[in-house]
Amino acid sequence: MGVTPQQILQAREYRANLQQELTHTYGLPLVCFTMNIAGPEKDSPLIRRSFHFGCEQLLAAFHGHHVEVAAQQIRLEHTGCEAYYAVRGNAHTIKKLCTGIEDSSPLGRLFDMDVLDQTGTQLRREEVGGHARGCIVCGAPGRGCASRRLHTVEQLQAVTKEILYHHFQQEDQRQISSLALRSLLDEVCVTPKPGLVDRVNSGSHKDMDIFTFTASASALAPYLSRCVALGQQTQELSPEETFARLRRAGIRAEQDMFQATGGINTHKGAIFTMGTVCGAIGRLWNAQQPCRDLAAILNTCAQMTQCAIDTDFREIERSSDGSLALTTGQRLYLHQGIKGIRGELAAGLPSVSHIGIPVLRRALAAGKDYNDAAAIRSVVCHTSIPINQRGRNLPVPLIFPKFFWFVSTAPRYPALPEKPPGRDQRSGRSDCPHQFHFP
Ligand SMILES: [Zn+2]
Repeated sequence: MGVTPQQILQAREYRANLQQELTHTYGLPLVCFTMNIAGPEKDSPLIRRSFHFGCEQLLAAFHGHHVEVAAQQIRLEHTGCEAYYAVRGNAHTIKKLCTGIEDSSPLGRLFDMDVLDQTGTQLRREEVGGHARGCIVCGAPGRGCASRRLHTVEQLQAVTKEILYHHFQQEDQRQISSLALRSLLDEVCVTPKPGLVDRVNSGSHKDMDIFTFTASASALAPYLSRCVALGQQTQELSPEETFARLRRAGIRAEQDMFQATGGINTHKGAIFTMGTVCGAIGRLWNAQQPCRDLAAILNTCAQMTQCAIDTDFREIERSSDGSLALTTGQRLYLHQGIKGIRGELAAGLPSVSHIGIPVLRRALAAGKDYNDAAAIRSVVCHTSIPINQRGRNLPVPLIFPKFFWFVSTAPRYPALPEKPPGRDQRSGRSDCPHQFHFP
């Protein structure tokens, strides 16, 4: 819903009154943070996510410079989001912090972080050594473009959208791939894992230890991020096309793995499966909120892989004349009909949703710590999933529940507090719809 110019003027007047009131109440420097969004649309889930990101950056800067927040207030209005912080500190220092965020944050161009000193006088960027901000479209210095209306609202909106999408696309690639990497590292640390490499011994693997795995996992960090990106970039293409590109990236990742481990296969299965899952999350991504829906992610994995994996099996059958050197998985399929990890993926990883995650959740709910819950799940998966569903080394049921557990429990951008109704206790004014939070 758009806002009228009159509503924007009213909001501006309201802000000025509120600033005055807060300055009067606290007698402290005041930071007033709003979003700089062109056009009539001032509020949306994406704008709120950006606003929240800005609030986090401000609070981190305050914390890092020992600036105490005496009171804060958040207003979420259809005329735009507003945050007010009454802070104990030097107004010039605080203005410098705010200017730093505006100039260096990837979303800084969309942030307006005004600072008023304790007398209510607004500080200018130039007073703390900052420069006047340039045009968001062409970069020309000063406000010349805005005052002469050199760019259309549509141009301004397109640039704004581009800034927001680009930032959250990269931010989510980083977050999702770091969760995936962490689950690879956690997986090898879980102890005991009979027969597998853990913190105590190498199980039945004489050629590797825990450090072979940490070396391999670290080498895969760029690949995991790339898989999320490939999913994001191919949202408009067919699921099969996404998978084809993921596979090409996987070949390069295998080379990186072998280079890191001196030729030992530590994560070949994980490259295939975890890469596919990261790609699926990328396909389902939107800038407002990354996808955390397990069923949708697993379903996307199945859609992407079914066709290609059927083709794989037909190829294996065709090459049964011995013309091709077969992998263990290919031999198992050919001689015993075992579909292994390919079949598991084409079916949407049922061992994750039916066994791995329920067992992990139950163990955590029963009060087991993280290691023990994962170790129990490892044993349950070993004993309850027949080899024709899991393949040789059981990487999938072991790794994925933890990854999905991370994805579904990782800190979300919390729902921003709605405007609280009622009286402002402190000022005693019944017409003031705001709430103050005291640390
Ligand atoms: Zn311009």
